Amino acid sequence: MKIAIIGAGASGLFAGGILSEKHEVTIFDKNEKCGKKLYITGKGRCNLTNNCSQEQFLANTVNGSKFMFSSIHQFSPQDIIDFFEKHGLKTKTERGGRVFPASDKSSDVIKTLQKFCSNCQIKLKEEVLDICFVASENLFKILTSKAVYYFDRVIVATGGQTYSSTGSSGDGYKFAKAFGHKIMPIQPGLVPIELEDKFIKQIQGVTLKNVSLNAVADGKKFSFFGEMLFTDRGISGPIALTMSSFINRAKAIELAIDFKPALTKEMLEKRVLKDVQNNLNKTMGNFVNLFLPRSVGEVLLQRLKIDSHQKVNEFTAAGRKDFIALVKNFTLNFKSLYPLDSGIITSGGVVLDQINPKTMESKLQKGLYFIGEVLAVDCLTGGYNLTSAFATAYSCAVNLK
Ligand SMILES: Cc1cc2nc3c(=O)[nH]c(=O)nc-3n(C[C@H](O)[C@H](O)[C@H](O)COP(=O)(O)OP(=O)(O)OC[C@H]3O[C@@H](n4cnc5c(N)ncnc54)[C@H](O)[C@@H]3O)c2cc1C
Repeated sequence: MKIAIIGAGASGLFAGGILSEKHEVTIFDKNEKCGKKLYITGKGRCNLTNNCSQEQFLANTVNGSKFMFSSIHQFSPQDIIDFFEKHGLKTKTERGGRVFPASDKSSDVIKTLQKFCSNCQIKLKEEVLDICFVASENLFKILTSKAVYYFDRVIVATGGQTYSSTGSSGDGYKFAKAFGHKIMPIQPGLVPIELEDKFIKQIQGVTLKNVSLNAVADGKKFSFFGEMLFTDRGISGPIALTMSSFINRAKAIELAIDFKPALTKEMLEKRVLKDVQNNLNKTMGNFVNLFLPRSVGEVLLQRLKIDSHQKVNEFTAAGRKDFIALVKNFTLNFKSLYPLDSGIITSGGVVLDQINPKTMESKLQKGLYFIGEVLAVDCLTGGYNLTSAFATAYSCAVNLK
């Protein structure tokens, strides 16, 4: 059979390699090289999967976990590790189960996939402009920036619509719509959050560890514990990115930081009282630094209208109460998410109930398949998004008839 794959990214290359064992495969990409997005993954190290169970993978899937059940059981995170090891790429597992190439080079992941595709015809710098089905011929007609082709099967592996300079500019949604597919409205996922608060400028670049970021989004509560950082416009870092994927469709969003989530209010009260007694002659600026990075402490004092030069012995009981309340619930003024193009992933995409979850075949057009990020599946950080790309590619490739 003649098969076309649109997109030489993670999912397209992987599916191409498998299919080329039995079929004539052509992979189109508009870029001058394969795997442009893969190259920048994991800060250039490519967190290619997570060394976790299928259940853990599904628990880290924000949208589409039910849909992913079949494909992740067909091709598990362990199968991804085994695949790369078998094809000569040594891997290593780091904190949180994150799997990287032992060389720390995403380019080695791309090289492995390209070698796996050595029997495919890869047409670079060739953008697919249109796909249609010619019923009389029982073939798909593909119009590219260079020519017209005919294929028996077409796999759309065009990715999402973020970091569009890597080639994923949302073309897959257009192709899907042309065949009657519905698109779940797209939003950035795993994206920094912009705040209205003016104090941001004072603390940009500061990282907070072991804090909780809490939100109430359209009445639903979310809380994530870990590391975050302040940017020039808002917040980023692991827990802010995770939060963004849960609140990206909400209308009313309240955000707050708990700087001391390990301590209850009562425990914090005891600690503050003890530290007050031991530091009566310190300035408040130095005192808050016992609890928080200095610049963040300054922001808290400003909000409490306490002069940082004031002595701790003037810290009243009411002041202490307000300080404790603020440490436990430092509210932030949500403005928006950063723009779509800044999202590590696209949330939304080809609606899942129109796709067969075992094979990735369109339920509307026989012979047409969708794999990878073009689907309305999005996962958290930790290698889960590439896992989803590889698992959907595998399910498509081994079941394609
Ligand atoms: C900065 C960043 C870091 C990331 N880090 C990680 C990580 O460490 N671990 C992880 O699991 N996930 C990570 N991700 C997410 C991961 O990269 C994607 O989920 C994954 O690459 C999606 O694979 P894909 O095959 O669906 O699409 P892509 O890899 O985006 O590939 C799509 C390809 O289709 C091509 N294409 C699109 N339209 C056309 C057209 N009309 N004609 C021809 N070609 C076309 C594009 O040029 C592109 O090469 C990261 C993403 C970003 C942006």
